[in-house]
Amino acid sequence: MTANPDRDSGRLVRLDAEKAAEVSVRAAEVRPQALFGLDGDALAEVMVEMGEPRWRGKQLAEAIYSQRVVEVSSISTLSKELREKLRTAGWEVGRPRIAQVFKSVDGTERYLVECPGANRQTVETVWMPEGDDGEAGDGSEGDDEDTKAAPSTGPTALASLRRRRATICVSSQVGCAVNCQFCLTAKLGLQRNLSAGEIAGQVVAVLERQGVEVGKERVNLVFMGMGEPFLNYDSFMGAVRLLVQEVGLSPQRMTVSTSGIVPGIERFAGETAEVRPKLAISLNAPNNAIRSEIMPINRKWPIEAVMEAVRGVKLRPRERVTFEYVLLGGVTDQPSHAREVARLARRTGLPVKVNLIAWNPGPGIGYTMPEAGAIEEFKRVLAAEGIPAYVRRPRGRDIFAACGQLKRTVEA
Ligand code: SAH
Ligand code: SF4
Repeated sequence: MTANPDRDSGRLVRLDAEKAAEVSVRAAEVRPQALFGLDGDALAEVMVEMGEPRWRGKQLAEAIYSQRVVEVSSISTLSKELREKLRTAGWEVGRPRIAQVFKSVDGTERYLVECPGANRQTVETVWMPEGDDGEAGDGSEGDDEDTKAAPSTGPTALASLRRRRATICVSSQVGCAVNCQFCLTAKLGLQRNLSAGEIAGQVVAVLERQGVEVGKERVNLVFMGMGEPFLNYDSFMGAVRLLVQEVGLSPQRMTVSTSGIVPGIERFAGETAEVRPKLAISLNAPNNAIRSEIMPINRKWPIEAVMEAVRGVKLRPRERVTFEYVLLGGVTDQPSHAREVARLARRTGLPVKVNLIAWNPGPGIGYTMPEAGAIEEFKRVLAAEGIPAYVRRPRGRDIFAACGQLKRTVEA
């Protein structure tokens, strides 16, 4: 990890760490413990501690992860006495809750999600109805059965209407230490890591708000909100396991994006297919010289090192690795850059696709958006070179919900 050269952010990290330590000492005396975030085994242990059989842990898991119960007193599968016993032993559900909602004209919603016990600090989560054109690295462009023409009347029509498409964009840290020059989240520096419960909790809180029926509706997750998931690896993968094993979401509908943290990619390569999301790499530049300039992390792990680590990931049949590519006006958006990206993609020998994203502006960031037509031309060059490329539509720019725009703006 390179040190963050932004001295102010560095100071923020230290101050917050001290504050957090103080708060947790004070809170440990009085704060109830959260059930949300514990996996099936840990919940079974809680029940055993209460003098109950292990299988009651399943009832707890079902209540908090499937029924989305938020109060111990509402867990109807447990007796009143047992609920009371849990509460007096200091247990609460403790799921993060949506504290504020910003609605975009395009239907996107951005949430400030408040995590219990974290000094009421909020994290950001985004809901994008109708997905984001299937171009968020979910690999399902147009070939998915859900997108086939549906009958317009009768019960089947109703059923297919219910099969909404949506994508939830999830944060893994408050702020980020990676310091990409074009990203607003970087301006915060790293404030803190989120726990597995705080990461999975964002998803469950949004599923509840939207009334999503897991298994019936098609919801994709992208770990592309605030933070670098592979610098908070254990919590990130802990959250994925909860979301797969307890909430019932498919890892094939999840995509994790990394700026290229090689040790993280290597660990990721060791995960089993049952819990491994798909992988997206924020390439963002056609070569090491430009990449090091806009993403200083490239000096530590240059493109070749990242690709070598990616080659270790055992892809599922038809799975592709996504290269995310932010077009910065005049810096990374030229046709010659597209040809370089195509060569680079071929050299990796990996099945890849490229997601093109026009840079979303943010205050205090000295780049410009690509000129009209540049992104389509870039796509055309890639396609002519045999590299599948998709243009990602910016979502919720008006509410600062688009890629790279997440930066907590309201302190609870
Ligand atoms: N830290 C991870 C995931 C979060 S960023 C990563 O970097 O991959 C998610 C995506 O948003 C990345 O591909 C990043 O390159 C892109 N991004 C960051 N700032 C952006 C901006 N201002 N406009 C468009 N995309 C941006
Ligand atoms: Fe962090 Fe990703 Fe933003 Fe880079 S692009 S600063 S890694 S959130």
